[in-house]
Amino acid sequence: MVRFAVLASGSKGNSTVVSGGRTRILVDAGLSCRELFRRMKLAGEDPATLDAIVITHEHQDHVNGLAVTARKLGVPVYFTQATHRAWMRWLTPRRQMTYAQWLERCRKQAAEREAEPLNAAAGCDADETDIDEVEAEIQPQEVEAAAPAEPESEATSVSPPSIKEDPTWLPSIEYFQAGQSFSIGDIGIDPFTTPHDAADPVGFVFRSEGIRLGFATDLGYVTPNVKAQLRALDLLLIESNHDLEMLRDGPYPWSVKQRVLSRVGHLSNDATAEFLSTGYDGQAAYVILAHLSENNNLPELARVAAERALNGRASLLANRLLLAEQHEPLAPIDF
Ligand SMILES: [Zn+2]
Ligand SMILES: [Zn+2]
Repeated sequence: MVRFAVLASGSKGNSTVVSGGRTRILVDAGLSCRELFRRMKLAGEDPATLDAIVITHEHQDHVNGLAVTARKLGVPVYFTQATHRAWMRWLTPRRQMTYAQWLERCRKQAAEREAEPLNAAAGCDADETDIDEVEAEIQPQEVEAAAPAEPESEATSVSPPSIKEDPTWLPSIEYFQAGQSFSIGDIGIDPFTTPHDAADPVGFVFRSEGIRLGFATDLGYVTPNVKAQLRALDLLLIESNHDLEMLRDGPYPWSVKQRVLSRVGHLSNDATAEFLSTGYDGQAAYVILAHLSENNNLPELARVAAERALNGRASLLANRLLLAEQHEPLAPIDF
């Protein structure tokens, strides 16, 4: 069976479970581990059965619970290399310090090395007892700049570093590239580049048991390549982020408005409608509008724009229109 379960969608967190055959993957981990697990249970999914996490891009609303969730489940994380690097940078910003502070730190570290030269791994077990408890402490600005862990060097029997010692440590890392298909168990994945202000953002088409699921959020406009990818689908999840007038008249500062409206920002209801009426082949059984802004959109505005664009093509058999929500999971869709 192929199943598609949106757990959350919007600027406060994004996450979806895609299942096909015996494989289950989490697409983005934008909620805390605890909230992800809670929503998975609400959607009838068992977190322990997840095989992997796949990341679209490094923005916080897509990776907030990533490290804790991957550690807890012991599953591999699939990124592009640039997204992985950007994620690590986000977790380990260089701390500004004065020369006096730097000298003091060097002295302290030298003293510590002398005091306990062989004790580097002490405390890992204790730190790992309940990873959720320390989750609240992962504040990027509190984290020391740390040497990034090499993915290849991780298959050792030594205990992993605690999340405080190295917030970027993951059980296993796999790289993929936009434009190059790969698979995880029974699910084939076609990643494609999206225009968005992140290091190397992607959308996906997931394939399993002859079913094709398209996934495209966080894109400033629908490029010809995105259009070409989102064809012959059984399900299309596409962003319908903001209403243009609400955004223009809304509370965001001008610079943020410009960012959202730009070619590397987010799709407006009008842009999504334009794609649905002229760029989309109308074949999907389900069309899910996603990543709706809570400040600059209303579900009814997004729905009406999409319905108009689908121009009577929506029916019980084709183009059933659903809206993904921020605060609760969408009822899972089975094929
Ligand atoms: Zn986002
Ligand atoms: Zn984004």
